[in-house]
Amino acid sequence: MAVASKPRYVDVSNPSLSVQCPNCGLRTQRFLQYCRNDGYQLWPSSQMASEAFKAWRAADPRRAEVSRYDIELPAEQVDAEIDYAERAHKLGIHLFPSSNYPFTICVGLLFLGIAAVPIDSTVRIILFVIGLLIFLYGVIGWVLIEDVQMFPTDSTSSGGEAHH
Ligand SMILES: [Zn+2]
Repeated sequence: MAVASKPRYVDVSNPSLSVQCPNCGLRTQRFLQYCRNDGYQLWPSSQMASEAFKAWRAADPRRAEVSRYDIELPAEQVDAEIDYAERAHKLGIHLFPSSNYPFTICVGLLFLGIAAVPIDSTVRIILFVIGLLIFLYGVIGWVLIEDVQMFPTDSTSSGGEAHH
């Protein structure tokens, strides 16, 4: 069939799933026969549009899950990097916050360790106080501040689902 032999009719290097309709100027699905806004015929036949879509989809493995009826690629398939913290949040997994505060806690413990060395008692007290302050700063900052910032409320994320 003539249609199937012309899969290169479409520019597969263009990642867009949408196209600007030449008739109404609005965005519409690139691989549907008719513009969804005014019914303007974008492709000579539905089959040709389908063949073009298959050729386009085969050009990139990230497009494998895409539907002709989508107007843009899902965000996960565009981004090569995966935001694990965001994913874990969606899945309800509480990841340990990545943070500098554990390092702060270690510095505090270091001072406390030095304070345990039997040297001049005034120096030990000073070191102990410094170590304790740094240690508490680390613990409070890590547990109370960062943890709360990372998971403020669940109400904001649920609204982001309905973006179509
Ligand atoms: Zn149109």
